[in-house]
Amino acid sequence: MPEGPEVRREADAIGRVLTGKKLAETFFEPAHLEPFARRLVGQEVVEVTTCGKALLIFFKSGRVLYSHNQLYGRWVVAPKGKPPNTKRTLRVALTTDAHSALLYSATDVALLGKKDLKTHPYLKKLGPDVLSDTLSWRDIAERLCDKRFSGRSISGLYLDQSFLAGLGNYLRSEILFAAGIDPTCRPKDLEPAKLNELARRTLLISIRAYKTGGVTNHPDTVRVMRKAGRSKGQYRFAVFGRDKRDCYRCAGKIRRITANGRRLYLCSSCQR
Ligand SMILES: [Zn+2]
Repeated sequence: MPEGPEVRREADAIGRVLTGKKLAETFFEPAHLEPFARRLVGQEVVEVTTCGKALLIFFKSGRVLYSHNQLYGRWVVAPKGKPPNTKRTLRVALTTDAHSALLYSATDVALLGKKDLKTHPYLKKLGPDVLSDTLSWRDIAERLCDKRFSGRSISGLYLDQSFLAGLGNYLRSEILFAAGIDPTCRPKDLEPAKLNELARRTLLISIRAYKTGGVTNHPDTVRVMRKAGRSKGQYRFAVFGRDKRDCYRCAGKIRRITANGRRLYLCSSCQR
């Protein structure tokens, strides 16, 4: 499933071609949205943004197109009339005179009014967005200390969108490794300095993933591996997907466990 940073990059790409432009053509495959498709023709896009893993396209008329990529969904930008060669099912197409924004596979799409954003069943449960410009590490530290979250296992918390929106499975493993945190412990078990470190790393690793296109490994390690001719698949993560391989920090072995029903990767000697 794409996580917050991936969805935000999709929103940026869509924003570059749609913001300030009027739609010339639209296509909606979810049958219930078909009546709205024609109404969006001629409407101007004013902003494309994200809320956790949801993508929001705002129109000048006050309408908002909500979509959630679910497990396999993907937004793609293409020149008008030149869609990518794919076997995926097209669900939504928003086309200007020059470009198309195309949503494949995902069916969780809705056309909302601005006031519906507060009551939408997915959006209303979300905590602060981990990529929000106004979120600081102190806000995250405060949230970790909040009674609603401080007694829960960190491995569960880091998948819960009501704690922080946009986190997901690879970010969970990568953040907990970067902060040196044992995933079974609870925020209230941590010394203040360690809790602050977790808050700082949560922000740093999420923003790093957004800026680099999903590379969360330490920049020094990435630099060395790229020089040695390694692929992105090889240098991308510090621990995620690297079970039985050597930890870049201590040369111990990375382990794979299941936590809260999802795979989690860790280095037991670095994460005590
Ligand atoms: Zn290690």
